[in-house]
Amino acid sequence: MIVMKFGGTSVDGPERMRGVAEIVRGRLPERPVIVTSAMAGVTNQLQRLTETALSGDRAAMEDEADRLARRHRETALALAPGDAALVERLDAHLRELRVLLRGVRLLGTATPRSSDQVLGYGELLAQELLAAALRIAGAPGQVVDSREIVITDDHFGSARPQLAETRARARERVAPLVEAGTVPVLGGYLGATPEGIPTTLGRGGSDLSGSVLGLALDAAAIEIWTDVDGLMTADPRVVPAARVLEQATFREAAEMAGFGAKVLHPASIDPAIHGGLPVVVRNSLAPERPGTRIGATGSTAPAVRAVASRAPLQLVALRAPGRLREEGFLADVLRTVDRPGLQPVAVLPGPVWLELLIPADPSLAPALDALERYGEVRCTPGLALVAVVGEGLADAPAQWQRVLAAAGGIPLRRLVQGPHGASLGLLTDEERAKELVRALHRALFECAAGEDRT
Ligand code: ADP
Ligand code: ASP
Ligand code: MG
Repeated sequence: MIVMKFGGTSVDGPERMRGVAEIVRGRLPERPVIVTSAMAGVTNQLQRLTETALSGDRAAMEDEADRLARRHRETALALAPGDAALVERLDAHLRELRVLLRGVRLLGTATPRSSDQVLGYGELLAQELLAAALRIAGAPGQVVDSREIVITDDHFGSARPQLAETRARARERVAPLVEAGTVPVLGGYLGATPEGIPTTLGRGGSDLSGSVLGLALDAAAIEIWTDVDGLMTADPRVVPAARVLEQATFREAAEMAGFGAKVLHPASIDPAIHGGLPVVVRNSLAPERPGTRIGATGSTAPAVRAVASRAPLQLVALRAPGRLREEGFLADVLRTVDRPGLQPVAVLPGPVWLELLIPADPSLAPALDALERYGEVRCTPGLALVAVVGEGLADAPAQWQRVLAAAGGIPLRRLVQGPHGASLGLLTDEERAKELVRALHRALFECAAGEDRT
């Protein structure tokens, strides 16, 4: 069995869905389980819909909901003309969505729980369309509701999958479908609490759905199909000269994701590490290319393998002289700022000031206020952590020197070494981050002509 996860661009409209169906058809002997994201931009549209509902503007809300409905119905029509049952299933979801949105508008408030319910409709709609595309291509696609399979805690907006229960359900309800020769299609990003209340795994969370289901089903591999050729030496949108990595270790991939490489959700490698399952990142627009294979082992020579950048961050300094020596102090401080999906990126303890590098997210404002009970708090917002990633970097001082030299005149505020010495983070101002990424990439990859670092 393999799990194949397709991202938003891969399922964006009838042409792309047909392309995905062809890819899946060619892999039927490997018994695929499919995880799909919402069509590109739909989750953002659902977010806007919630905001419009909250603003009370009924006409604008209905207009936006009409646009969303039209886009999905048109895709259905182009994919499967005459499939009235498909349109009816889409319409059933769209009706429910409108009821929820009207509730939000009338109440004038959206709890994290109700927001999650709205945000999940993109995947609920996409799974119907992709399953239909598969059936037309001769692969027997069958929708399975992830909210009955992926069981999570109740951290709405960033729920964490609970592996034991998810495994039990996947084995009971997904594996038999594969045994029976069908191709299960599950919406990514979605889950539910054990009581059945819908949750989402956080933005970009379909990757995590893919890897959790891969682990739950003991898949032979997890494939993340996206719009680039694999894990690259940098984000190709920032560095056009970025190159594809043939392979990467779990640690390298996890550090890249944690340091902002959007191609993988930060938590998506954890289940793969847990089960030792290989993850392959591939391009659905160029399926003939091999992509990047992520596994337990990789290239042995320590070298910088990629540059990533995470923003916006803020440095929070807490003046608490001597208190770090008190039992439980650090744990209390960390508990105060700990929010699912927004955990500190670095903790820098000192005798007088304790510094925390944390995401700059408005939802952390109350936590920062609460920190004041421990002492004076100073925040520096507008920061980015630009990181170089590579297994064994800690033992390669020459590489550190090259990295620091490459940063040139761009001001650095702190250096942050990642776990296992597999990364070095350079803290800089957010507005200089792209410049720093490009400077590092140029010096570390583009100048070393002829040298193969992948
Ligand atoms: P999907 O919709 O398939 O989940 P995402 O937009 O979430 O796709 O992730 C793919 C994007 O990640 C790419 O288009 C690319 O711009 C970005 N990206 C950032 N860093 C990297 C990297 N190191 N390698 C590849 N892609 C990267
Ligand atoms: N559709 C969700 C999002 O846009 C999840 C995903 O695409 O991974 O964040
Ligand atoms: Mg993604």
